[in-house]
Amino acid sequence: MGTLTEQQQKVSTLLKKAPLIISGPCSAETEEQVMQTAIRLAATGKVDIMRAGIWKPRTRPGSFEGIGTKGLPWMQQAKKETGLPIAVEVATAKQVEDALHFDVDVLWVGARTTVNPFSVQEIADALRGVKVPVLIKNPLNPDLELWVGGMERIAKAGIEDLGLIHRGFSSYGNTDFRNAPMWHLAIEMKRRYPGIPMINDPSHICGRRDILQEVAQQAMDLDFDGLIIESHIDPDNAWSDAKQQITPEVLKEMLEAIRWRKEDNNSEDFHSALEKFRQQINQLDDELLQVLSSRMKVAQKIGEYKKNNDITILQTSRWTEILERAIAKGEKLGLTDEFVTKYMDAVHMESINHQNKVMNS
Ligand code: PEP
Ligand code: MN
Repeated sequence: MGTLTEQQQKVSTLLKKAPLIISGPCSAETEEQVMQTAIRLAATGKVDIMRAGIWKPRTRPGSFEGIGTKGLPWMQQAKKETGLPIAVEVATAKQVEDALHFDVDVLWVGARTTVNPFSVQEIADALRGVKVPVLIKNPLNPDLELWVGGMERIAKAGIEDLGLIHRGFSSYGNTDFRNAPMWHLAIEMKRRYPGIPMINDPSHICGRRDILQEVAQQAMDLDFDGLIIESHIDPDNAWSDAKQQITPEVLKEMLEAIRWRKEDNNSEDFHSALEKFRQQINQLDDELLQVLSSRMKVAQKIGEYKKNNDITILQTSRWTEILERAIAKGEKLGLTDEFVTKYMDAVHMESINHQNKVMNS
């Protein structure tokens, strides 16, 4: 489908680079701010693409909702001045059209858009016949299929350069994070789509500066392909997401402090040692499964016994006792309360299912 321009080819190749670093303000605010951020980001020598929000989907009305289309020529000028390709978020067909008109190099679909198949489809339809890379953020809620669906809609429109952004998931109540990372969901997406770059967004996961580095490091340790981090020339006075933005210079320090590990190396010693450990892990996993299977057989016997005596499957007090006992024991064995609870919940549900079959057969 048509040939790529030189710039398109450059950006397409860039997206396959790992680690890919995208940075820039949450929002474009003024012409001066966009240009100064671009110049200072380019000076770090560590940033591949500049981002800025032009249209901001804010949770509550009345907060800054983006500078709108008039910010696009500022981005275009910043690119001209620094050579940095530019990325913006799009949520409607009109925004796609405007962004492309001002030569935006990379588009992304925000978390509030990925949740809505109508909106994603509108964007996909506007992209038909267009050559532009698109990054799809995870939806606000921890629903993997919505994330997959968003990507499929864009892919079906003929977009070949796709990427995923892991920005965490909304949760209720106070936690350490603005958006819970739920790393297992990003890991599952990586497993299903190994060829598609997975970029981590520590800014929206953390919502604050002091833990950005930790989350970025964790993403790199999980073999993510890049980072998208918000930066601002005057973070405290940013018009949106002030608490999580950092200056381009702090970004540079942060990137320098990250340990960039590789997924693999060619050393034979390393591989044979790793292989031994992996065999041990497989052996232990087999044993765990055996033990679990034995546990279910006992549960079935209890099921029969309860059936004959007309007793309910669940006795809440017994379940509380099992859980408390396991948590206390787990703690002595170095297992976290959170893990033991999740694990015992899963085991208990499986037992109930086994008993259910017996009782109702
Ligand atoms: C953003 O990148 O500024 C943004 C609005 O992010 P998200 O869609 O992840 O909330
Ligand atoms: Mn933001």
